[in-house]
Amino acid sequence: VVEIGTPDTATITTCAYCGVGCTFRAEMRGEELVRMVPWKEGKANRGHSCVKGRFAWGYANHKERILNPMIRASIDEPWREVSWDEAIAHTAAEFRRIQSTYGKRSVGGITSSRCTNEETFLVQKLIRAGFGNNNVDTCARVCHSPTGYGLKTAFGTSAGTQDFDSVMAADVVVIIGANPTDGHPVFASRLKRRLRQGAQLIVIDPRRTDIVRSPHIEAAEHLALRPGTNVAVLTAMAHVIVTEGLVDEEFVRTRCDWSEFEDWAEFVAEPRHSPEATELMTQVPAANLRAAARLYATGGNGAIYYGLGVTEHSQGSTTVLAIANLAMATGNLGRDGVGVNPLRGQNNVQGSCDMGSFPHELSGYRHVSDDAAREMFRDLWGVEIDREPGLRIPNMLDAAVDGTFKALYIQGEDILQSDPDTHHVSAGLAAMECVVVHDLFLNETANYAHVFLPGSTFLEKNGTFTNTERRIQMVRKVMQPRNGYEDWEVTQLLARALGCDMKYSHASEIMDEIAAVTPTFAGVSFARLEELGSIQWPCNEKAPQGTPVMHIGGFARGLGKFVRTEYVATEERTGPRFPLLLTTGRILSQYNVGAQTRRTENSRWHEEDRLEIHPHDAEQRGIVDGDWVKVVSRAGDTSLRALITDRVAPGVVYTTFHHPSTQANVVTTDNSDWATNCPEYKVTAVQVGRSNGP
Ligand code: SF4
Repeated sequence: VVEIGTPDTATITTCAYCGVGCTFRAEMRGEELVRMVPWKEGKANRGHSCVKGRFAWGYANHKERILNPMIRASIDEPWREVSWDEAIAHTAAEFRRIQSTYGKRSVGGITSSRCTNEETFLVQKLIRAGFGNNNVDTCARVCHSPTGYGLKTAFGTSAGTQDFDSVMAADVVVIIGANPTDGHPVFASRLKRRLRQGAQLIVIDPRRTDIVRSPHIEAAEHLALRPGTNVAVLTAMAHVIVTEGLVDEEFVRTRCDWSEFEDWAEFVAEPRHSPEATELMTQVPAANLRAAARLYATGGNGAIYYGLGVTEHSQGSTTVLAIANLAMATGNLGRDGVGVNPLRGQNNVQGSCDMGSFPHELSGYRHVSDDAAREMFRDLWGVEIDREPGLRIPNMLDAAVDGTFKALYIQGEDILQSDPDTHHVSAGLAAMECVVVHDLFLNETANYAHVFLPGSTFLEKNGTFTNTERRIQMVRKVMQPRNGYEDWEVTQLLARALGCDMKYSHASEIMDEIAAVTPTFAGVSFARLEELGSIQWPCNEKAPQGTPVMHIGGFARGLGKFVRTEYVATEERTGPRFPLLLTTGRILSQYNVGAQTRRTENSRWHEEDRLEIHPHDAEQRGIVDGDWVKVVSRAGDTSLRALITDRVAPGVVYTTFHHPSTQANVVTTDNSDWATNCPEYKVTAVQVGRSNGP
């Protein structure tokens, strides 16, 4: 037991890991952070936390952290430490040179869902006002971009509908493609409390996650579908609801477009969508599927929570639309205990999307061709925003390989590790003339960088994060930035060097600007956040205290929109060469590619990623527990050790992706969602065989 003693100072701030948004008391002794104590007043966590927020903050002082800017003429040369002045002047000169040689659209940037709203807003401002184009994108491209598309299409707002407390009024909870126990543990505890009180649970997931069966909890139905068949399963559930007369007609007649509903109902009622007709394809027994559909439609308040197992598919956007259809058809929207809720992965992925990080949208999800919105920005910024949508990350990389995209500013994102088809990412980065990585560590992407700008941790900055409930919360500076600057200050230095007028002296002034140009944030300021503790957007004249539950009395878009959801099989087909389907997920103690958690004490809880394989498939291949195995797909191969378990069904293998050596994305393919380019991480046809190790 280590005696911590009484701290000298304590500051309330927000966790920088997952989208739950737990708040903590950061306790200091002198200049040293000694303890993170979950804060009882935190509305997202109410005094709870998980092992990441509580213990995994030591990376801030890790010896590998880079504190001084570095430049190099080419990626074959060693890095050279330089002053901030030289690094900024050099970067600005490179961007100016490249734009004057190759045109204004030859450069772009990537915002970070780990950074604050204010920092993200400033990066997209640098690109739109400083570079003069819309070539800005964010890591949501590879996680929840289908959520943005699907929920905006159906309801008019690219965000979840409920606050976390709402789950305590749910009678039936549907978890689709999410593993909240590992991915969103503090929300999972609240959910489990409700389940122990008697709410029923339906899990739709190829893998038997912990929530399916845990102490005092047993899912009423676990639909262990074949990876890639979400749309077929959800459409079959809709078939049952429509053909068995379980539609909430009053809700649909008053709240939705009735003619679109009729068209959709006719579509889902076709016999080819019945559970029996789709059973072979989805591998979900028809009787279980019928039971799940009936339970969701008739069991009282039905709440749906979903994760990346929904979005990271070639039909990710269609799946989100299918979920929205189910909720509207059963009247499960617009009150406590119901709703459609994405469980967002990163601490501020909701915020980075809200702040205009997409190449086609300004803050508040207004299209770049929206004249009224563009006028608002012109009045404030004094520049005309390009009305042409910019490039998405995969398109930037394609254009780089083609020779038309030449420079990229990447804040807090390791695209070489986190984006699909690693070979293509490295080819794109290698083809650029100036890659700027603004980060804490020399990550994998930095191998292709010409400029490295040291980043600041969440402990070293002021600003806000927006969690998956749309809850905006304060991030407060606990210690001075070890690199000298908060991230927004670095972006401002670069913008000024490029002639872009930025004069902020505090992050609160950036929030004031966000509020001035973003109708859903009109009532948000640091002063109001201090007064209210947190605010869920929309917060404006109509909702001065914010909005915990959305779409009460009417959808943001007016009438709810039903959309036909035709199932299209993924190109990832199994066959003699690649007979198994690989899917991926997370573990509690680690976070994403592990850049932070691996540099903390948490690494002792998860020393390597393993390949989960069913005993039947393992035996067929002569694999025993702990053997090294080689996983081969049509994109590439990697080696890791086997974990034999019946948590996965025969024909399915599963791994986490927290260690760089796992190289999961060398194996994943370049398939992506038809609407948003979100990569199809969750389905890859593979061969698995014993190997001698990496
Ligand atoms: Fe809370 Fe998520 Fe941080 Fe864990 S990682 S403490 S659940 S915000």
